Amino acid sequence: MSLAMGKKEILNWLRETDAERLKNLWQRADETRRAHVGDAVHLRGLVEVSNFCARQCMYCGLRAGNVNLARYRMLADEIVEAAQQAVKFGYGTVVLQGGEDYGITTSWMTDIIRRIKNETPLAVTLSLGERTEKELLAWRAAGADRYLLRFETSDRNLFEEIHPPLGNRACDRLAILRQLKKIGYEVGSGVMVGIPGQTYASLANDIALFRELDLDMIGIGPFIPHPATPLGTGMRFFPSVNGEQVPNTELMVYKTVALTRLVRPDANIPATTALATINKKNGRELGLQRGANVFMPNLTPLKYRRLYEIYPAKACVAETGDACNSCLSMRISAIGRHIGSGAGGRRDRKMTPVLPAEKEFCHA
Ligand code: SAH
Repeated sequence: MSLAMGKKEILNWLRETDAERLKNLWQRADETRRAHVGDAVHLRGLVEVSNFCARQCMYCGLRAGNVNLARYRMLADEIVEAAQQAVKFGYGTVVLQGGEDYGITTSWMTDIIRRIKNETPLAVTLSLGERTEKELLAWRAAGADRYLLRFETSDRNLFEEIHPPLGNRACDRLAILRQLKKIGYEVGSGVMVGIPGQTYASLANDIALFRELDLDMIGIGPFIPHPATPLGTGMRFFPSVNGEQVPNTELMVYKTVALTRLVRPDANIPATTALATINKKNGRELGLQRGANVFMPNLTPLKYRRLYEIYPAKACVAETGDACNSCLSMRISAIGRHIGSGAGGRRDRKMTPVLPAEKEFCHA
C-alpha cells in the first residue's frame, strides 16, 4: 500500500471484508495521520445560518420541494454572537453553512464576514452552495478564508441525476472548486458514501480524485435517507447498478476516510456529524482513529438547530454549544489526542503543489 495506490487497489480495499486486513488499513491510516498532521484535533464551530434553499437536491431535506419544513435565516447579530462563542470555546474557525439561499445577499454576508474578522481572530469558512463568481470574490475580499463545496460524487451522470440544475444554469462543482482556489480560498470538498446509484468503481474514482485535486479539507459522510426526499423514499432508484451499489454503512465510511488519508496525507479530514449520526456512541472517535483529524461542533442556536434537517436524527441536535464543547473535549482526550490551537488550516503547516490545470468557470 502506498501513496501511489492505483484505482484497482483502492477498489480492492473498498470491497475488503476481512477484519484482520482492515485492521491493517486503519493502522496505516492512523500512522499516516499522525506523521503528517499530528495528534491535534482541530475544532471548527459550525453555524447553520439558513435552511432556505433554492435547489431540489434529491438527497437533502432542505430541498425547496420540502414544503413541510419551517424555514429560518439567522439574524446577522446571532451569527456574530455564535462566532464569539467559538472564540470563547477556543475554536480557531467558524463555518457558516446554509442552503443555497439567495436571500443571503452579497452585501449582507460581506458585512457579517467583516464583523467576524474585525471582532475575532477566527478563520471564516463559508459553505453556501454554488454562488456566483462575483459573490465569491466579494466574500474573499471581505476576509473569508475557506470555502466548502462537496462534489458529492465524481460520477457525472449520477451527480446530474441527484442535483438538478437551477434554471438553465448547469453547473460543474469541480470547476467551481478550481475557481475558488484561484480566488485564494482554502478549499474543501467531499462526498457522500452510499448514495443510491453509487457504485464501488465510482467511489474509487472519488478517492482517486481527492488525490488529484489540491484540497485542504475533505469531508466524507454516509448518505442518510430523508423521508421528504426522492432518494429517501426510494422514489428514485437505480436498478442498473445491480450488486455494485455501495452500502451507506459505517464501515464503508471508515474505509473511505482511511483511504483518503493514505492518498492525501496532509489534508484536513473531519469525523463528520453524519458519521456520528449513524454511530452516536463512538462514530466520531473511530473516525479520528482511522484517518480523521477535525471535528465540527455545532454552534447553531438551539431554536434553529432541529430545522437544519439535511437528514433525520442528526447527532447533537438537542445540545447547546456549551454541552457539545465539553462532550467533544472529553471524547478527544479519552482517545489520547488533544485539541489543536490556532486556525488549523493546511497553509499553517505546509503547502502541497497545485496539480490541476485551470478550466473555465461555469458561472455567468
Ligand atoms: N448548500 C450547501 C451545504 C449543503 S449541506 C451545499 O450544497 O454545498 C452540506 C452537505 O451535507 C452536503 O454537501 C451533502 O454532502 C450533505 N448531505 C445533504 N443531504 C444529506 C443526506 N441525506 N445524507 C447525508 N449527507 C447529506
